[in-house]
Amino acid sequence: MSAHSLLAPGAELELLADGSVWAEGPVWLPQRRRVRWSDIPNNRILEWDAVSGQTSVYDRAAEYANGRTLDRDGHVVQCSHGRRRVEREIDGELHCVVDRWAGGRFNSPNDVAVSRDGSIWFTDPPYGILPETREGYPAASEYGGCYVFRFDEAGGATPVITDMVHPNGLAFSPDQQWLYIADTGAGMGLTAFNGIRRYPVRDGACGAGEDFVQVYPDQPDGFRIDVEGRIWTSSGDSVQVFSDAGEQLLRVPTGARVSNLCFGGDSGTDLFLTVTDRVYRLRTTTTDAAFAQPGPCSA
Ligand code: MG
Repeated sequence: MSAHSLLAPGAELELLADGSVWAEGPVWLPQRRRVRWSDIPNNRILEWDAVSGQTSVYDRAAEYANGRTLDRDGHVVQCSHGRRRVEREIDGELHCVVDRWAGGRFNSPNDVAVSRDGSIWFTDPPYGILPETREGYPAASEYGGCYVFRFDEAGGATPVITDMVHPNGLAFSPDQQWLYIADTGAGMGLTAFNGIRRYPVRDGACGAGEDFVQVYPDQPDGFRIDVEGRIWTSSGDSVQVFSDAGEQLLRVPTGARVSNLCFGGDSGTDLFLTVTDRVYRLRTTTTDAAFAQPGPCSA
């Protein structure tokens, strides 16, 4: 497939909404036919309705919610900086999934992915507890690190990655044999590495990680992986697509920093981008690996 055919014919960035301060955490809600996102410094959650084309405020007391995804039942699972937890929305009510592990409360869970086995994997950098934060409440880290955790009901939260600086966006490869995670630590000058790492996943644990690709300018934050294993990532000035071999396949300038993105729309091929204060749609020819049903021989 040529890089160009990653996009639908004539595809261009379509502005859906503006007026956020810092838009993040997009997810497509199939039943509502809406894309939902966080406007973190404004402490609210917004939705754009694909039927009416209108944007509305979903929640004004969002406790600095950040990244979100859907679980296997279609419920929203989201990260809360303010509550320092991962939470699940069922019938409009929020329920705590997990807010601590043995070492103390989390820092400020940032982004989340749900495995095909139902376990919830999330990153825990400090952006919602930093002294100057606009995205939470200043506080100390209670366990003294920035880990990636796996949670399931039987085993609770377990750190699966402890050697990243500021783990941020994350997604599984289509076969779920790899977990990819962006490190945004370079944004505070804490590491020279400026990109996405990946770790082999076996039996709910991660093996030794490796640097996958560096992404410029600034840092990649949120990203998603399509059914062919390609990484669609945010960056400082564009959405960029990389093959699973790390080759850049596509770069679409956005004019401002992209924080995150998600696939959605009725066909699953629309890419929704949170771009600083705005939300855009970009029509593609692929879908999120997380939407794909495992084949009869898949784990
Ligand atoms: Mg993020």
